[in-house]
Amino acid sequence: MWLRLFLVFIGSAWLVISNPAAAGIAILQYHHIGDDTPRVTSVTAVELETHLAYLVEQDFTVLSLTEAAAYLAESRPLPERTAAITFDDGWRNVYTEGLELFKKYQLPFTIFVNPELMRETPHLYMTWDQLRELQDYGATIANHSNSHGHMTWRQEDETEAEWLARQRADVVDAQAEIEAELGEQPKLFAYPYGEYNPELEAMLAEEGYIAFGQHSGPWGEYTPLTAVPRFPAAAQYANLATLQTKLLSLPLPITEVEPQSMVLEHETKFPELAVSLAHSDDLAPAQLNCFAGGEVVEPVWVGLTFTMQTPQPVPIGRSRVNCTVPSKSKSGRFYWFSQPFIRPDSNGRWPD
Ligand SMILES: [Zn+2]
Repeated sequence: MWLRLFLVFIGSAWLVISNPAAAGIAILQYHHIGDDTPRVTSVTAVELETHLAYLVEQDFTVLSLTEAAAYLAESRPLPERTAAITFDDGWRNVYTEGLELFKKYQLPFTIFVNPELMRETPHLYMTWDQLRELQDYGATIANHSNSHGHMTWRQEDETEAEWLARQRADVVDAQAEIEAELGEQPKLFAYPYGEYNPELEAMLAEEGYIAFGQHSGPWGEYTPLTAVPRFPAAAQYANLATLQTKLLSLPLPITEVEPQSMVLEHETKFPELAVSLAHSDDLAPAQLNCFAGGEVVEPVWVGLTFTMQTPQPVPIGRSRVNCTVPSKSKSGRFYWFSQPFIRPDSNGRWPD
C-alpha cells in the first residue's frame, strides 16, 4: 500500500515536473497580402515570406486548426513551438500575392470566407476555383459568416430570439454554400471584427463550431472553444521582433473571466476585469503586468484571482487589455492573456 502510494506520488510529481508550462498554439491572423491595400490589415508578400521562413528556420510545428484542436481534445502535449496561420475575408490578393509562397512553404493555413460578399462583389474576393486550388497547397476554407456584419447588433424591431435566429442562419447558410462548393469542411468560424457575446458563443457551440476571435494570446487547454484568440500579424505587428514574443507566448491557465461579455454598457467607461487562474508553480503573480490604452496597470490579487480597472476611459468601439507574466521554467517566454472590450455609443453602435 505505501509502495503504491509512493509510486503514485512519484508518477504525479514526474508529470508536474515534466510539463511545468504547457505550450499553446500561437495563431497568426492576416487579411490582405499587398502594398496597395489598407496598411492596418495588410502584410506585404515580403513580410509574409519573412514570417513563413522564420517559422521554418526556428523549428515551429505549424498545424492546421483541426490538427491543433485534436491535440487539445486528446490532451496530447503540444510541441514547444507551435503555430497556425489564418487569413480572414478571402481577399483576391491572398491568391495573387500568396500562391507562390504557399507553394514554396507547403504549410497548412486557413482562409475564413464570406460567401455572400463573394457573390456581391466578386472582383474583391477569391473565386471558388482559386480557393479550390489553394486547398492543394495547404488551405482549409472556413466560415466567416455570410454577410460580415456586427453579429451582436440587434435590429430595432427584432426580439432577442429573432436576432439569434438571424445570426444562426448567417452562419449555417455560409457553411452550406462553402460545403456545396468544396465538399464537407471542418466547422471552424471566425467572428467578423472579432465581436461576440455569450449568446453567440452558445449558438456556435450548439452548431458544433470552434470559433476564433481577434484578441491576442495563444490557444491552450483552458481556452474556451468559442473564443479562441489569434495574434494580428499585419502592419505594426508584422515585425519579427514583436511577433517572436507572441509566437513563443504561453497560454495563461484561466478558469474564469468577468465580465463574461466583451460588449460593455455605453456608460461603462472604466471597466473592471476579474481573472481567475488555476494554480501554477511556473508563474509568480507579483510579476504579472497588464497594459490598457498604452499604460501599465497594477493588478490586485486575492488568492488566484486578479482584478484590474482601466486607468483611462475606454474609447467607443473595440479595445483590449493585455496581461503578461514571465514563465519561471522557460526563459524568455511569457504567459499572455488578452481581454477584448467593446464600448458602444449612446445608440448601441460602433464603427467597423
Ligand atoms: Zn473579416
